[in-house]
Amino acid sequence: MEPNNSEQRTGNNEQTPRQSGNQGRGQRRPNANNRQGQNNRGGNRNGGRPINNRNNQAPSQDQGAPRGVSRGAAVRAQKRSQMDAQRIANQYQAANVSEDNNRRRANVIDDTPRLKIIGLGGMDGGGSKNSILVEYVNDAVIIDYGNDLSVDLPGINYGIADTVYLESIRHKLRAYIITHGHLDHIGGLPHIVPKFPAPIYGSKFTIGRVEEIFENFGLPMPDGFELKTVTMNEDTHERLKIGDFFVELVRITHSIPGSTCVVLDTPVGRIINTGDFRFDPNPLDHERSDIERLKELGNEGVLALLSESTTVERLGRTPSESTIEQSFIDIIDQAPGRIFVGLFSTNMNRVQMIINAAIHHNRKIAMDGRSMVSTLEMAVRHGFMKVPKGTFVPIASAATMPDDQLVVVCTGSQGEPSSALQRMANGEHRHIKLKEQDTVILSSTPIPESGNDSLIGTMVDNMVMKGVHVFEARNHELDHVGPLHVSGHASQDEYAEMINYTKPKFFIPIYGAYRVKQRHIDLAVEQGIPRANTANVLNGEVIALTPDKMEVIGEVPNGTILVDQTGAVVSNVVVKDRVLLAEEGLVAVILTVDKKSGNLMTSPDIVSRGFIYMRDNEEIMNGLRNELRRAVTQRFKRVDLDRFKAELKDHITHYLFEQTQRSPIIIPVVNVVGGVGKGENAKVTTSAGGRTKTAEEIAAEQQARFQQMRERLLTQDARID
Ligand SMILES: [Zn+2]
Repeated sequence: MEPNNSEQRTGNNEQTPRQSGNQGRGQRRPNANNRQGQNNRGGNRNGGRPINNRNNQAPSQDQGAPRGVSRGAAVRAQKRSQMDAQRIANQYQAANVSEDNNRRRANVIDDTPRLKIIGLGGMDGGGSKNSILVEYVNDAVIIDYGNDLSVDLPGINYGIADTVYLESIRHKLRAYIITHGHLDHIGGLPHIVPKFPAPIYGSKFTIGRVEEIFENFGLPMPDGFELKTVTMNEDTHERLKIGDFFVELVRITHSIPGSTCVVLDTPVGRIINTGDFRFDPNPLDHERSDIERLKELGNEGVLALLSESTTVERLGRTPSESTIEQSFIDIIDQAPGRIFVGLFSTNMNRVQMIINAAIHHNRKIAMDGRSMVSTLEMAVRHGFMKVPKGTFVPIASAATMPDDQLVVVCTGSQGEPSSALQRMANGEHRHIKLKEQDTVILSSTPIPESGNDSLIGTMVDNMVMKGVHVFEARNHELDHVGPLHVSGHASQDEYAEMINYTKPKFFIPIYGAYRVKQRHIDLAVEQGIPRANTANVLNGEVIALTPDKMEVIGEVPNGTILVDQTGAVVSNVVVKDRVLLAEEGLVAVILTVDKKSGNLMTSPDIVSRGFIYMRDNEEIMNGLRNELRRAVTQRFKRVDLDRFKAELKDHITHYLFEQTQRSPIIIPVVNVVGGVGKGENAKVTTSAGGRTKTAEEIAAEQQARFQQMRERLLTQDARID
């Protein structure tokens, strides 16, 4: 084939650089900043060394290496890129890779009668992948097993707590006990329960949520797996025996129905895990926190309080959920057309409130967003929602309703790119497109440190351009309406009250960043807990409790397992390659060499992705082709194929670094065609119509196969890879 042909085709391969990162969850600022900080592209890459080393460091004669940058500089640059990628990928390591450190390792077979409390997750910020293991002699329970949705690595959906330590105590595991049905407390369960089977305990709503996420999990459960759940009544102070423990759930207010504190009576003493909470004096479902029971438990004696720490830095009290009710009524009163409300998908009490307001205004309700519809169905099925017949209309027919008779409740209050609200805003929704005189209420605030602010900003811009009236929770005063959102977490006064009600001997802040947990300890000290009776621990650190002593006795293996969109686990090595690809791109060179002569049979093909736009850089690409031709001529017959490929890779790295100051991943593909090698003639037994094929026929077949492979590579659509 003619050389120019391949050049035209290769020119089409480079697309606009794809946006890296997980589009579904926006840009997580802190990581992205690291990445840029570590990665000074351009001249600085050389660490300030003079680029032109032509005179003092002659490149290897054999390979006719390009002049200008020393091989060392190119190799170092490539190493740096790889280390950067490794560092980014290593932010989330599985336990078996992070077993380096100098920290004391707890003796995992030490069964002295002490109660061990280990944060498998959720002790390192963000309140993520929350999970607490409680272990005593031959029994262990896991309180919550959530997932961390803030992981910002290419192709990664979330992280869950590593299970290496669980392997070693699997025979002790008696139960999972769940505080409430938010994903950061239950999202990891479909991954570990099949591997470490035990029944899941929780309130009625929480168990409903657990069943829901098992039903919607992407991967099939292993053969013979059976989900076992135990629904507990949080109103009757029911106590169930689990091994040497007794468990009780205590009703607490949060932003999802069925939230509870977990009370665990152990042979060493009583511990309480608060779960997520606030003390809402006037919740929409009238299910107040069971403060009386907390006080009783406190009077009976609490050994340790494990209290969530999400918003300890917020002063005062969190306003009641009921304070937002009137704001919705006011907005619906005034709205000239359709009304859309975006909120978190599991906040069913708020959904009920909006349903009530809509009914009051003779409007019908349509719902959208898969997760919200799924939770709503579960809530209705279990009798948690009161919805009169005929209130709902299907989203597919919502557009045919008169504008002033419709309220749409949907996901997307965080500006998530594929959410229902976002698709309605940018015209991609199948049934509904936002239009002038629509009203949109965003009944949430951006998740802190999530980077969602800018996503929401873009979405709102889009809406305002269309003439939509947008009410954002944070701007409610500006808009002269009441509050449109309140947090589901406590503020300082309520955190202090929790300590005062339960009167624990020892205080362990959980589910929060280290600095926030430290403030929680300060608050506990103000409430009279001796500082020596508090502990701010990291994931994996083992707290040992006796009736009168608490100490941190070491650390068990801990880390993060990364999970992709399908629910499959992704290796750290794969993530590193993805980061490197995202940062530097990829260049594949494909050479077809005649075995006998050692000559190139076609012009080298170059395929590049995410590196540079080849059409704009013909000179570099032609230079690279010349380098490849020269490398084949000078080296192919002198060294074996593996060595040749290694040299080629090194050589291309060097050349491209000199030309572009970048170190893409290089994949050399060398296809050797023709004359079978020495001693191989006799072994040719491939049959063709009953007779042995000739060497020429085999060569022709090889070439045809290679041609197909090449076509596939070159015609691949870069947008889908
Ligand atoms: Zn929660």
